[in-house]
Amino acid sequence: MKPDYILLRMGELTLKGRNRNVFENRVLTHIRDFLKSYPNIQIIKNYGRVYIQLNGEPFEGISQQLKKIFGLVSFSPVKKVDTELTAMRKVSLELMNNMVPKPTTFKVNVRRTYKQYPHDSQELNHLIGGYVLHHTPGLKVNVHKPDVILKVEVREEGTFIYSETISGLGGFPLGSSGKSMLMLSGGIDSPVAGYLAMRRGMKLEAVHFHSAPFTSERAKQKVLDLAKQLTNYSGKIKVHIVPFTDIQTQLNEHARKNLIITFMRRAMLRITEKLAEKNDNLGIITGDNLGQVASQTLSSLNVIGRATGMPILRPLITMDKNEIIKIAKDINTFETSILPYEDCCTIFLPKNPATNPNLGLVERMEKSMEWLPQYIENAVEKTETIIVSNQKEERLSHLF
Ligand code: ATP
Ligand code: MG
Repeated sequence: MKPDYILLRMGELTLKGRNRNVFENRVLTHIRDFLKSYPNIQIIKNYGRVYIQLNGEPFEGISQQLKKIFGLVSFSPVKKVDTELTAMRKVSLELMNNMVPKPTTFKVNVRRTYKQYPHDSQELNHLIGGYVLHHTPGLKVNVHKPDVILKVEVREEGTFIYSETISGLGGFPLGSSGKSMLMLSGGIDSPVAGYLAMRRGMKLEAVHFHSAPFTSERAKQKVLDLAKQLTNYSGKIKVHIVPFTDIQTQLNEHARKNLIITFMRRAMLRITEKLAEKNDNLGIITGDNLGQVASQTLSSLNVIGRATGMPILRPLITMDKNEIIKIAKDINTFETSILPYEDCCTIFLPKNPATNPNLGLVERMEKSMEWLPQYIENAVEKTETIIVSNQKEERLSHLF
C-alpha cells in the first residue's frame, strides 16, 4: 500500500520550546535540500507534528535520503483516509494484511485531536481493532507486547494510519555546533571520528598530511575517496593536503629516534591549528583511541596535545575497535580504509616509539630545532586545497 505522507520525529527528548523550533527548522532545511529532486513534496507542520506530503513522489527513494539526515530520529510511512469509521477500518485491515512477515499479535492505538468526532479513542480502539480481528484469521490482540502497534491519529482534516517506524541517524542538525578541522588519515578511525562529530552537529573541513614520494598518489586519492564518502551526510567538504615530506626528513635526521612520532604529531597539530584558524574552524577532530598505539597513550596524548591551544575533540577515545569498525561499515568507509596504501606516519616509524614522553624534554628539544617554525610555515603555504563533493572535486589551491 503506497503511503501518502511521512511522519517525521526530530530531536532529542530534552529539547523544549524555542530550542525545539530552531532545531526542527534546521532539520527541515536539510530535508528540503536532500529532497530537491522530488519537487512535488510538501512539508506540513500541524499540532506539533511534522509531515512530508508525498503528492505521488516515491516513498522508497525519499526514505533512502532521510536516512542520511542528522537530527531526524525516526520516520513512519502514513496512509491518510477520511475521518470516517468505514474508511478507517478498511485501510487498517489492508495495512495489516499487507505486512510481511504476517504478524500474529497486534493492538490498536488511537489518538484523537478532533474532539468533536462522535467516538472517543477508547471506543475507536475497539471499533477498529474488533473489525481487523474479525477479518483476519489467526490474528490475536496483545496489549502488552504486540508484534505490531497500529497507530491511528484522528483529526478533523483526515485520519492518519501507520504502523512502521524507521530509524534515522539521530544527533543534531549539521552546522548547529560550528565547524572543526578533521585530521583525516587513510585509516579506519578518522573517518568514523568525522562522522560522529558531524552527527553532533559539527561541520567539517579535513586536513591530510602526505609524504610524496614516500607515499603514493593513490594514498592521497584514498583520503579524497574517504572524504567523498563523508559528503553523503554533509554536502561539500574542503580537504587540505599538506606536503609533510620535508619536515619528516628533517626530523628523521635531527631528532631523537624514539621521539620522532611525538615531534611529528606536534608539528601536524601546529599546521592543523594554523589551517583551522585561517578557515574559521573552532576545534580539531582526531581518530585517537586510548591505548591503541604508542602515540595514543594518555601520556603521549598529553605531550602531543600541548602543541596547540585549540580544543582537540576525540570522539573515539574510549570506544572498542569493534564498535568503530561497525560504524565504519555502516557509513561505507571501511572498505576504502583497509586498502593497503602506506601512510605518512608509518614510513619513518622507529622500532621503539616512546609511550611515556617527557613534556619538558620534548619542549626543550623542539626549541633547539631552529629550522622548525619556517618548515611549518612552508608546509602551510604549500598546502593544496580541494573541495570534495558528491559530484566532483574542485581544485582551489590558487584561492588560498
Ligand atoms: P586512523 O585509523 O584514523 O589512521 P590510527 O589508529 O591509525 O588512526 P594513528 O595513525 O596513530 O592512529 O593516528 C591517530 C590520528 O591522527 C588519526 O586518527 C588522525 O586523526 C590523525 N592522523 C594520523 N595520520 C594522519 C595523516 N597522515 N593526516 C592527517 N591526520 C592524520
Ligand atoms: Mg593511521
